[in-house]
Amino acid sequence: MGNLVVKVSTNKIKEMKEYYQKSLKSPSPPYTAFSAKVGACTITAYQSGKVMFQGTGAEVEANKWGKVDPSQAKASTASATLPNGFADWSVIGSDEVGTGDYFGPLTVVAAYVPKDKLALVKELGVKDSKDLKDPQIVAIAKELIHVIPYSLLVLPNDKYNEIQAKGYSQGKIKALLHNRALRNVLQKIAPVKPDAILIDQFAEKNIYYRHIQTEKEIVRENVYFSTKAEGLHLSVAAASIIARYAFLKHWDELSEKAGIILPKGAGNKVDEAGAKLIRKHGEEALWQFAKVHFANTQKAKNLLYKKR
Ligand code: MN
Repeated sequence: MGNLVVKVSTNKIKEMKEYYQKSLKSPSPPYTAFSAKVGACTITAYQSGKVMFQGTGAEVEANKWGKVDPSQAKASTASATLPNGFADWSVIGSDEVGTGDYFGPLTVVAAYVPKDKLALVKELGVKDSKDLKDPQIVAIAKELIHVIPYSLLVLPNDKYNEIQAKGYSQGKIKALLHNRALRNVLQKIAPVKPDAILIDQFAEKNIYYRHIQTEKEIVRENVYFSTKAEGLHLSVAAASIIARYAFLKHWDELSEKAGIILPKGAGNKVDEAGAKLIRKHGEEALWQFAKVHFANTQKAKNLLYKKR
């Protein structure tokens, strides 16, 4: 879904009108050169030369005629499903950290930022955590946790490995944790209800609900899903910051316990640290420190045998 604008010349508008001849709406709405509907995409050309593409397939149609600003394309796909003014609503947002890191737990947070706390939360420096460094995240989180209701769920590595070995996909694990964190916050703030819930999307809505279908209480009311949701409501940005803070704290503890600095991510340095860890503590120790189903486990072992 999208809502894209392309600027074209008057000649181009004529050309477009011809191109969409069979799909033209008549009469064309006031102030427009023409309006057409192709599948689920509505195209509206204004006399000014602005052409708006709305709905499914907007990007495909728009790209036929001109350059779509990539930031505009991104924002429109991300926010397409959210109602106008959403950023100013009272919202519970949820997000997770640690899914792509071999070492360290999975942390999921749901956080409630009501309308009347939006300004304060912003003042504390809450924004998209991709624009923040870890020390800033820690500092902001330490204040934030006293200001807003939230639920933090930490899934330690041994627990993660246990349920992963039972056949739970990472998507299912995440969905279960998001649902529980959301439920916890709803309970905390009851009888107050949020205007909406926004989940930083990691799975299609149907798949998300299939993952949690056996749960006793499933949060469904006013739930929205969006990718890049951190930029769409401060509650998701706040959830992400608290989740990252918790992840870092546990990761520090793990590094200390391991006696080596555990690298983040899942790259070559992680393989090397994995090999070191096995040499130091034995292979079974990985269960406590890492998500053992990652390819890094085998790579770490390979490194170890090569060096022998
Ligand atoms: Mn996320």
